[in-house]
Amino acid sequence: MDRIGIMGGTFNPIHIGHLMMAEAAKEALSLDEVWFVPTGFSYMKGSRQASENMPLPEERLEMTRLAVRDNDRFRCADLEVRRQGATYTYETLEELRETYPEKTFFFLFGADCLYTIENWREPARIFDACELVAAVRQGASTDAMQEKIAQLKERFGARITLLPFRNLEISSTEIRSCVREGRSIRYMTPQPVISYIEEKGFYRKGKPLE
Ligand code: NAP
Repeated sequence: MDRIGIMGGTFNPIHIGHLMMAEAAKEALSLDEVWFVPTGFSYMKGSRQASENMPLPEERLEMTRLAVRDNDRFRCADLEVRRQGATYTYETLEELRETYPEKTFFFLFGADCLYTIENWREPARIFDACELVAAVRQGASTDAMQEKIAQLKERFGARITLLPFRNLEISSTEIRSCVREGRSIRYMTPQPVISYIEEKGFYRKGKPLE
């Protein structure tokens, strides 16, 4: 039976923190593959903002595809970008479970989300559809997290594993700032993603993209 990690994210843009976290989860949990699922349109994050030349959802999808294409254990899934309207994690996980009933899914996320996931849409359905893997940055105390996991298990029957992960100080926000300020983003994300960002003019100040 295939064990599949699901790495959801805005990926605006995807960077080595995302890729290394997926690789660490693959190793630690003996996953067969990790599927990257860029979020679809979000009224807060997904639109093309006039002043910042933000990529459209399908362009974030393309950056994600470019980032994972040289790894045959990584795939990029377009189900959230294809979906109309806001995208919710429970819908994605349920759709995956329905389409691939023979596979076991593990949703990968940053451990900070342990404290917010109850406020996501339909948390009980998320916990029902998959196991969860929370990446903990090195140095963070896990006592409070273990307590939270116990609460979520009690309340929802949640199955959550903590994954120790290095503290990689990189974020999509930093990449966007670098581009805006004309600083290098070399090595922060794979070169094909950088070339695509340059070609499309994402994150630059000035005239909005057509
Ligand atoms: P994101 O900013 O693109 O990040 C994706 C994941 O990568 C997050 O779990 C993030 O953890 C992790 N990450 C980022 N930088 C990292 C680094 N340097 N080292 C290690 N890990 C790093 O995505 P997002 O906007 O937070 O969304 C995450 C997922 O949650 C998406 O699938 C989204 O749809 C889902 N979500 C769903 C709902 C809902 O259903 N209502 C609500 C909110 C989010 P950190 O956050 O710890 O950085």
